[in-house]
Amino acid sequence: MTVVFLSLGSNLGDKVAYLNQAIQSLSQVHETQLVKVSSFYRTAAWGKIDQDDFVNAVVQLETNLEAIDFLRECQQIEKDLDRVRHEHWGPRTIDIDILLYGEETFNTPDLKVPHPFMTERAFVLVPLAELTEDLVLPNTGKTVLEALAQLSHEDVTKI
Ligand code: AMP
Repeated sequence: MTVVFLSLGSNLGDKVAYLNQAIQSLSQVHETQLVKVSSFYRTAAWGKIDQDDFVNAVVQLETNLEAIDFLRECQQIEKDLDRVRHEHWGPRTIDIDILLYGEETFNTPDLKVPHPFMTERAFVLVPLAELTEDLVLPNTGKTVLEALAQLSHEDVTKI
């Protein structure tokens, strides 16, 4: 089994409900088990500031699926939740990013793992630290807690 960490975010409609629906769908992916879910956090929009706050969480799973097949499952869940997206970094009902896939690394347009921006985003590292603060991030050699110490995270608030 491969240990997988996902980042979930929503900034459109009933965000908490979309996150809960995505987690429910993830728990039903074949050859996959849900292990842990972080608290939900309210965070200021990243990249574009003239939009609604996000609700973010991190989920830990174990799976026998190959990473690319797991990505397709995540994309199907996004589609099923009727993700509406009109612009890059615009509002979305649900966004699922693969942060870590065991020890594996990928660097294709379809799949970049570890997720290239994860160490820059407090809304990823705060919930990830809740689940696994001592995990060493393969891209930096730092633990989640050490990476988090380098970011300001006062605008990431537990709901
Ligand atoms: P976004 O619009 O931010 O959800 O990005 C979706 C695109 O990013 C898709 O084409 C994915 O194939 C690609 N992608 C690359 N790396 C990842 C990753 N680690 N997790 C999720 N999507 C990824």
